[in-house]
Amino acid sequence: MERPGWWPDDRPMYEVVWCTSCERTFTPDQADLSDGGPHCPHCGADPIAWWDWQELLLSHPHYPRDPEIGGLYPLY
Ligand SMILES: [Zn+2]
Repeated sequence: MERPGWWPDDRPMYEVVWCTSCERTFTPDQADLSDGGPHCPHCGADPIAWWDWQELLLSHPHYPRDPEIGGLYPLY
């Protein structure tokens, strides 16, 4: 995926984002850019709350490598 211009400069591009606030997945192109975004399309959380799905997999190896987009994947 092309790196969107709004993606934070200080982090690598994620193919799939996992939101620590709502524990759901989305792809960067689904981010809500309205109202001073980007925000999580599910709960509106700022990018500070976003994790790379690959990062979650490190501590949750039983989760699928290709998660359901929009799916709920609890941290605990
Ligand atoms: Zn969220």
